[in-house]
Amino acid sequence: MEFQRQTGSLMGTRMWLTLVRMRRLRHDPRMLPDQRSARRRAAVLAALSVCWLACGAVQSLAQDAVSYRLSFPQREHRLMNVEVTLPNLPAGPLQLRMSRSSPGRYAMHEFAKNVLDVTVSDEQGQPLPVTRPNPHEWDVAQHGTTVRVSYRIFGDRVDGTYLAVDSSHAHINMPAALMWARGLDDRAVELRFERPHGTEWRVATQLFPTSDPLVFTAPNLQYLMDSPAEFGTFDIRTFTVQDGGRTPEFRFALHHRGDGAELDGFVRDVQKIVREERGVFGEFARYDNNTYTFIADYLPWANGDGMEHRNSTVITSGQSIRTSHLDLLGTVAHEFFHSWNVERIRPASLEPFNLEDENISGELWLAEGFTSYYEPLVTTRAGLAGVREFAQEMGDAVNAVLTSPGRLVRSAEEMSRQAAFVDAATATDRTNFDTTFISYYTWGQALGLGLDLTLRTRSSGRITLDDYMRALWQRHGKPGGRAPGYVDKPYTMNDLKRALAEVSGDAAFAADFFARFIQGRDVVDYATLLRSAGLVLRPLPGSGPYVGTVRLDGTSGGVRVASATSPGSPLFDAGIDRDDVIVALGGVPVTSEGELRRLVAQRKPGDELPVVFERRGDRVTSSIRLVLDPRREVVPAEDAGQTLTAAQKQFRNAWLASQVR
Ligand SMILES: [Zn+2]
Repeated sequence: MEFQRQTGSLMGTRMWLTLVRMRRLRHDPRMLPDQRSARRRAAVLAALSVCWLACGAVQSLAQDAVSYRLSFPQREHRLMNVEVTLPNLPAGPLQLRMSRSSPGRYAMHEFAKNVLDVTVSDEQGQPLPVTRPNPHEWDVAQHGTTVRVSYRIFGDRVDGTYLAVDSSHAHINMPAALMWARGLDDRAVELRFERPHGTEWRVATQLFPTSDPLVFTAPNLQYLMDSPAEFGTFDIRTFTVQDGGRTPEFRFALHHRGDGAELDGFVRDVQKIVREERGVFGEFARYDNNTYTFIADYLPWANGDGMEHRNSTVITSGQSIRTSHLDLLGTVAHEFFHSWNVERIRPASLEPFNLEDENISGELWLAEGFTSYYEPLVTTRAGLAGVREFAQEMGDAVNAVLTSPGRLVRSAEEMSRQAAFVDAATATDRTNFDTTFISYYTWGQALGLGLDLTLRTRSSGRITLDDYMRALWQRHGKPGGRAPGYVDKPYTMNDLKRALAEVSGDAAFAADFFARFIQGRDVVDYATLLRSAGLVLRPLPGSGPYVGTVRLDGTSGGVRVASATSPGSPLFDAGIDRDDVIVALGGVPVTSEGELRRLVAQRKPGDELPVVFERRGDRVTSSIRLVLDPRREVVPAEDAGQTLTAAQKQFRNAWLASQVR
């Protein structure tokens, strides 16, 4: 999923700031060079037959499979042509659908909106009558055993959710692009990519390869929809890592404007992350096809994103390896961690994924939040970042949870259930989420830190969050699914509680931790916990008077408050909220943000000042009582003028040193 970080800020010495980073991951096997692929293909076909038999399918792929042909005669106009053949249809109405959501995304996305020129015909090409019961569906009441559908679809957004077609590539998220038929979920699928004339486009995808490098298969609809594809010219690097008796292959396919040497250096660090994350779980997930594929598009016109899939990830960014090496690696770490946590250690609320509606889950604080905790932890353990960077990221998360008024409104579990409204959701009406919502990425990241430090502290370092993640892996991830694309033992909130009771050996502790910090709104004692590792939670340097966390716009005749004010903040208590224009403070006219900031900075916490503002045409006089800036940061003790004790050094090392065995 995407990664969002919230950082509060203050007016006074600093103005408000919010960082939103979008991340997602995904993995996919790309087509293989012919010489190497024969053995693998045989193994894959064998695995597929086993799966289809297990699924009760008796027809051969050729007879029963739904087939798609994708071609790009108008790629410069961002259009893809799709032809679908649905054979051996049962009698009764055929319901053709575009998806409304995409695996890993929880908000509604109306993918049908970009569909053009839909034609439905029989085997001989005779048009069949179609009705439209809703904007996402094409119903065919009367049809024979085979139906053909063709349409064009527009797409121009390079990220983990949508379709992007241009003269350089087709970047395809399947739910955004492919129409499918209700009731055929267990049918195998064949997908043929038509290479545009004069190009050398190749395919990177976790779809199963065939003897034709442009033809792929999926064993069922869930797997198809979870399998994005990059069709274009890209650089690719592969590496293997021994994992017990297995040797999975990792592929990094990159569409970018940099050079091969940059990619080589980057993939060396990707390998470090892959090995370090294996250290957390003790083994890799069992990738279908024994391959995990990173599909990356680092292009100036790409949107920052990362989307996880079972055996692949899509990572997109407008940045380049040259300018943003470590930041891009962070997304790699996040998305690859998802190959265990969420793709296989999967909440029951998301299994199977509903393509027709929003998906609600109260467990995203773990699925996304713990993944966000491990992202900087793993890059630190791999030696790619230092303790200072790690402390800063933890400080951002802890500060957001400590200072955001959202915590007064909902628990981490309840924030997770808000995903449908915030996960790349679009709306034209205003919300007050600035003051009522804390991202489950951020809160979950802080919870991961809190639980890890709590487990380590109460067990004198014998039990850690890694043990907890491994226990979840053994119970819920490793058992696998009845077919690629499914998870047979997804978890519930009670399963998570039970696992913590067993790992910690203390059911009362586990019950209390969930009741207070996950399903309740308490916050662990971060200052005490962090001290064990020689990290200091402290006020921001130079903290002074504070009026609240808001965005401000300079405007003619005053300063407009451009975001909701936080309950309990001086601005809020003075009756000021969004769109109010502050015109005077302490009897001094205010005409710019800078002036307002200076006027606040000249005062002391506790001072009470008259404030004049305009509210929807009325002039209002009130008073505002400044408080001390409540924001916090986390720094290594040695940066706070303290000396690390031997115990702190040992604690920190056990936590942040490499776990590669
Ligand atoms: Zn994620």
